[in-house]
Amino acid sequence: MAQGPYKFDENVFVETNYQSTEYDGVILILYPDEKNIPLPRNIGSFITEITKLDKHVHKACTLWNCDYVSGRRLILAPTGTITPYHDVRVVKEAAKKGVARALDAGVKKPLLIVPACVDYPDGQLVSMLGAFEALYQPLHLVERGIAANFYRIGFHAEEKNTDAFKKVISNAIALERSRIIARDIAGGDPERMSPKNIAEYVKKTFASDRNVVITVHDNEKYIAKEFPLLAAVSRAASCIDRHKPRVVQIVYTPSDEARVNETLMLVGKGVTYDTGGADIKISGRMAGMSRDKSGAAAVAGFLKACSILKPPHLKVIGYLCLCRNSIGEDSYVADELLVSKSGKTVRVTNTDAEGRFAMADALFKLSEIANNHIHPHIYTIATLTGHARASYGNYVAAMDNHAAKVTNHASKLQFSGARVAEGIEVSVVRPEDLAVNVGKCKGDDLLQVDMDAKARHHQLAAGFLIKVGGLEDRNVKYTHLDIAGAAGSPPDEPTAVPILSLCHLHKVIV
Ligand SMILES: [Zn+2]
Repeated sequence: MAQGPYKFDENVFVETNYQSTEYDGVILILYPDEKNIPLPRNIGSFITEITKLDKHVHKACTLWNCDYVSGRRLILAPTGTITPYHDVRVVKEAAKKGVARALDAGVKKPLLIVPACVDYPDGQLVSMLGAFEALYQPLHLVERGIAANFYRIGFHAEEKNTDAFKKVISNAIALERSRIIARDIAGGDPERMSPKNIAEYVKKTFASDRNVVITVHDNEKYIAKEFPLLAAVSRAASCIDRHKPRVVQIVYTPSDEARVNETLMLVGKGVTYDTGGADIKISGRMAGMSRDKSGAAAVAGFLKACSILKPPHLKVIGYLCLCRNSIGEDSYVADELLVSKSGKTVRVTNTDAEGRFAMADALFKLSEIANNHIHPHIYTIATLTGHARASYGNYVAAMDNHAAKVTNHASKLQFSGARVAEGIEVSVVRPEDLAVNVGKCKGDDLLQVDMDAKARHHQLAAGFLIKVGGLEDRNVKYTHLDIAGAAGSPPDEPTAVPILSLCHLHKVIV
């Protein structure tokens, strides 16, 4: 067998025999006894003896010398206690920790046994994704040629080599390839992933994809005219070519366009570094702000999933709004009166509220053309407000406009998220969240942000986007996802949310 360096999509296998010499360590996800999940036949009694001997095996990963498995190394990866409040994330975490423990032990060819559990219909998919998370190699390591210290991974299910299990694995591989792109972009440092470099990375990544068309807008005059609020945010960075704003459009069209029954339009916030601008972030709060491009990263990742899995019923238009919120002699500052693409005047009040500006004009453009497409649904995906994190911790805040609320879209997305281990909270945009954004000075249409507002900052940001995007009255479905708490902060790897939830809800995976 090949012993070259690990290459994600070439080194993932279905394995029917957990004594195979192709592997040198076996990981078993261990459920609590009360779940009555059958243990693998040949090692069942071995494990039963261990669990009688030491209850601790249900609390932390342990490694056992076992003659009945590959490499004679058996790693038990427990889910821990599962209460009715727990969800499928227990499986993901067990798989991730189990694989990490195996690599720590020196295993280079891990085989993961993924038992099916009726409580978690997508549990096998989720456990594979957890395993892949443990194997992820950040882009800077890959580019420096620092090879992963492992060769392959196999997955084993008791139901053996069925078509259904192979389908789960191929879905997991496609989703992970998509999440790698999102993690690479979101997690890349602000120089590696400057607007220019992200555009290059995206072009390269999609180069051989037949159903995808990429357009990179980098002409300054064009951006100033078509995306004036994005251009304002970028002003202090525009003297440096690699930090100049870019708008990258990625369009997925299935081979038979006549079968399309839904059009998704995604706008991602891609602030490659957020200093806060003239309203600079102080007291060390700037660290980690290279993750402010996680929304754009997720949009690129979702398009990749579509490009691989080729949903016949979807057309997808994605915009990555890439810019850098720098501070400098040409910084945009509070009190400036800008004119958005929609023609509305917007008074700058805090340059650190740049994310809504970065996306505003792309959002408006999409809302203008939405009804020319079949069943459109617009999303914004953004690390937008610290308030989303303060409100919901590490969960996505999902907010519908009036048209999306009619079908409870955010709730459906929450359900999908629960199936694939992405936590989503439904948050509601109220009338005051719209009203608070109305300009106060004579002739002002909108305020960037009401600095006197004491609460509801993530909802009022959605209110701003609804207003500036022309989505207040228009009959177009729109859902805003604030991923500020959910995107993952250093030193953790980016989470790549909400790619899985979107793929589940919109049937990119079947
Ligand atoms: Zn900011």
